[in-house]
Amino acid sequence: MVEPDRDLLIVGGGIYGCGIAQAAAASGYSVTLIEKNNIASGASSQSTKLIHGGLRYLEQVKVRLVFEALREREMLLKIAPELVQREWFFIPIYADSRRPWWFVACGLLLYWLLSGGRSRFRRLHEGEWQTVLPGLKTEGLCAVLAYEDAATDDAALTRAVAASAKAYGCRIFEDSGLASASYDGNFWLVRLDDGREMRARLLVNASGPWMHEVCSRIIPAPPEVAVRLIQGTHLLLDRPCRSYIYTESVDGRVMFFRPWKGKMLVGTTEVELAEMPLKPFPTKNEVSTILATHNLYFPGSPCSEADILDTFCGVRMLPAGSGAFAASREALMLADDERLPAYLGVYGGKLTTYRSEAQKALALIARHFPEPQHADTRSIPLGDSGKASG
Ligand SMILES: Cc1cc2nc3c(=O)[nH]c(=O)nc-3n(C[C@H](O)[C@H](O)[C@H](O)COP(=O)(O)OP(=O)(O)OC[C@H]3O[C@@H](n4cnc5c(N)ncnc54)[C@H](O)[C@@H]3O)c2cc1C
Repeated sequence: MVEPDRDLLIVGGGIYGCGIAQAAAASGYSVTLIEKNNIASGASSQSTKLIHGGLRYLEQVKVRLVFEALREREMLLKIAPELVQREWFFIPIYADSRRPWWFVACGLLLYWLLSGGRSRFRRLHEGEWQTVLPGLKTEGLCAVLAYEDAATDDAALTRAVAASAKAYGCRIFEDSGLASASYDGNFWLVRLDDGREMRARLLVNASGPWMHEVCSRIIPAPPEVAVRLIQGTHLLLDRPCRSYIYTESVDGRVMFFRPWKGKMLVGTTEVELAEMPLKPFPTKNEVSTILATHNLYFPGSPCSEADILDTFCGVRMLPAGSGAFAASREALMLADDERLPAYLGVYGGKLTTYRSEAQKALALIARHFPEPQHADTRSIPLGDSGKASG
């Protein structure tokens, strides 16, 4: 069957592609989304699964990013209560930790202020350490600080946004990769890997870390920026876990321990890739760093490779020329023509801020059409949902 012409064709079923599809479809545009694998098969199912402001970004004075992400956190807690939960996070501080407890407490105070008082924090009494964090190394432990943030199931959240887009009439095709796209001045002619063809007035490239690979299949060549591809890995360990712990890895990076399906999920690492693989996989060094970090903090129940139940490995794009840690986590949007765009490339930022970034994308998209429309996704609830397809 020939697909009818659409206003928008979106490439990529990650949180950004689905978020833009939802915002555009709710605004009344006719939208098709194509995904080469399944919804949320890229970075949007491989993240640390936190809906957070990003405490660590305060050290780089990224106050606006943290403020916006905290505002979005509160929004998602409201519109997706089945998918996003408020949680207490614990920061153990040792005698040899890089930051003293009072420094971290100052950060938490600022975090609390930026959240409008919705990220309470406190210092645990020594007597609480072992009840709240059983098995945690206590040798050299000076303080444990606790603060409120939120967590989710990233893939389920993405599927829920896709289901919402679908409910507003968006057509979603999984197992449908873009093979080529060309623009005749009015319409994009898009060919899929299986030979099907589709036409749309505006093309949105939300293919995450595959962005440049997808760009190479588009005529005329769309605008691009140089990026670094940073891979991060989490390991699901066969250990019980009921608390969210924010700490330093053995090589001094931020590392989270969190409960996941009744077990302990630990990550993440940062490894720069020269090019984007078809499917990212963890390096030996990432695996050994995560295991060593686990064994440092839980010396009573050391883990080996035999205790790894699953691995999550995702890649994010960061602007070139910056350190992986210091680089911006804001989404970047590149249009072929800012005034009258026919192409929009969306370099995804945080999972947390997908909704507000999708609204920004929609404002750009609306410029293409004679009668711009703009739905407000703050008032669209998201339910837990299964697979979105067809
Ligand atoms: C290790 C790690 C941890 C993170 N932790 C957090 C966190 O805790 N909290 C937070 O807020 N953010 C976090 N992030 C950031 C966040 O997960 C990502 O920025 C976000 O998921 C990016 O979404 P996306 O839609 O841009 O990309 P993706 O989710 O990668 O989606 C891109 C999609 O495009 C599809 N695609 C590619 N090529 C084609 C083609 N030719 N045709 C059709 N489809 C195609 C892919 O299959 C993929 O599904 C983390 C990121 C990483 C890597």
